[in-house]
Amino acid sequence: VVELGVEREFSAAHQLRGYQGACEKIHGHNWKVLLEVRVGALDKLGLGLDFTFMKSELDRILASYDHVLLNNLPEFQHENPTSENLARHVFEKCRQVFQPSGPNVSVIGVTVWESSTAFARYAE
Ligand SMILES: [Zn+2]
Repeated sequence: VVELGVEREFSAAHQLRGYQGACEKIHGHNWKVLLEVRVGALDKLGLGLDFTFMKSELDRILASYDHVLLNNLPEFQHENPTSENLARHVFEKCRQVFQPSGPNVSVIGVTVWESSTAFARYAE
């Protein structure tokens, strides 16, 4: 078993409705996202899953979050765009994209940093 990961970044604003404090106001973060997958077998080249493919597909998923107010997105109409919820949504989207890459590929975790010192990791 080999585990692979790629990191990507995006910038976006959010506000936490109902939060008692500064985070209730609209503010921005430079978010960092780590996608981790587990592969059960390597191909002829010795690759589990091409990093270039992983990065480009993760970028495609994150494009809808980049330079927007996250609260305006459909998935955040009924829940706050916290790091926790973002990690879950990105995880679900990654699973749809990467799991069909083969029976030996599984998405094992998505970690979202909203600052260099605070992150949420979603895993199943
Ligand atoms: Zn925030």
